[in-house]
Amino acid sequence: MRATIITIGDELLGGETVDTNSAYIARRLGELGVGVRSMVSVADRPEEISPVVDRAARESDLVVVTGGLGPTVDDVTKQAIALAAGRELKVDKQLLEHLEERFRDHSGVRPGVLESLAAVPEGARTLGNPVGAAAGLALTHKGTTIYVLPGVPHEMEAIFEGSIAAELKGLALDRFRKTRLVRTIGLRESVIAERLQPMMPLGGIALGYLPRTAGVDLRLTASAADEAGADSLLDEAVARIVGPLGQHVFSTEGEPLHTVVGRMLIERGMTIAIAESCTGGLVGHLLTEVAGISASLERDIVAYSNTAKAESLGVDRALIHEHGAVSAEVAEAMASGVRRLAGADLGVSTTGIAGPDGGTREKPVGLVYMGFAWEGGSQVAKNVFRGTREMVKQRAAARVLDMIRCHLLDTGA
Ligand code: ATP
Repeated sequence: MRATIITIGDELLGGETVDTNSAYIARRLGELGVGVRSMVSVADRPEEISPVVDRAARESDLVVVTGGLGPTVDDVTKQAIALAAGRELKVDKQLLEHLEERFRDHSGVRPGVLESLAAVPEGARTLGNPVGAAAGLALTHKGTTIYVLPGVPHEMEAIFEGSIAAELKGLALDRFRKTRLVRTIGLRESVIAERLQPMMPLGGIALGYLPRTAGVDLRLTASAADEAGADSLLDEAVARIVGPLGQHVFSTEGEPLHTVVGRMLIERGMTIAIAESCTGGLVGHLLTEVAGISASLERDIVAYSNTAKAESLGVDRALIHEHGAVSAEVAEAMASGVRRLAGADLGVSTTGIAGPDGGTREKPVGLVYMGFAWEGGSQVAKNVFRGTREMVKQRAAARVLDMIRCHLLDTGA
């Protein structure tokens, strides 16, 4: 079974709104065993929408349309669908009663709005909207089911899950598709591909590479007769690919790095203190995304100036003078300093040049030193990250989190 997804709205074509609806629907259809053959975005004009819907109905087994279902002048989807299917728009009495009930206390509702919301192409079924006013629609045209949903993402999702998912499950499609995300850090895409080459092809699994700002995700998609079959194919494939990638895999369940690291710290009862310069609090921000991290995160000090590094972390001014604020020596002193002040098990630090200006031949833009201190030891990592200022910050923060993770794994803490 193959589907076409059509999203409607000038704001999508103008680039002001990112089309997240298509991604959501495609992912869910895939999980329900329906492949997507194409996605199209169309302007708010019935004469442009109508031929696209008509063609999709001819070429696909299923069409899902979102957007333009509201009562405003730019909401023309129902007209367009009626035009494509050669039907009249008629007020659905039951829907109108439901809307009148819902809007009874809203005395300011413009006359005609409810009639416009209750108008549906003849022969269309309405799909209840538990979180908004615009109902979804389902109709058959040229033997193809066309679902029409509001554009507001949470309304679209509510109707999809409440009505469409159940209807598709009822069709008992013969394939079940499931996806798992294996997340890695510290290896290039080409190196991963080389290491995985001997295990290809992975039986029954499609493997996709998704490079991120920090790290590469591997998307494994299994296709099987049922969910249990897909799960067992995925378990087998994950077990095979994790071997050659070793510690570079930080999650086989699609979790973010900071979640994994935060949980490791909490589970091990380890306390941590952070001193950040070029990452400006990003490492601390990421860790504070993790519920329960107060048990481990003692403090995060953003010490941007030399004075702050000396005053709030106890870094020797002479050290900064001699080696510069962006140096292995200062990174180490920042990590040890914050650890000592906090009385924490671990101290980490960042100091670098995020750019775009401020680089020299010896110390280029993207150079970041990351300090790491623990009872009886310390370590400094030097990296030159490429990319924009934002990317350098994100990559440095991810690298620091990964240093913490690897330390905890290596020491068996
Ligand atoms: P309403 O009842 O609110 O008028 P609607 O069905 O008419 O809903 P639109 O007016 O097209 O929907 O869009 C409503 C909101 O949903 C807008 O903020 C729009 O940017 C957003 N939106 C529309 N289509 C998409 C999409 N494909 N992906 C993400 N957001 C979308």
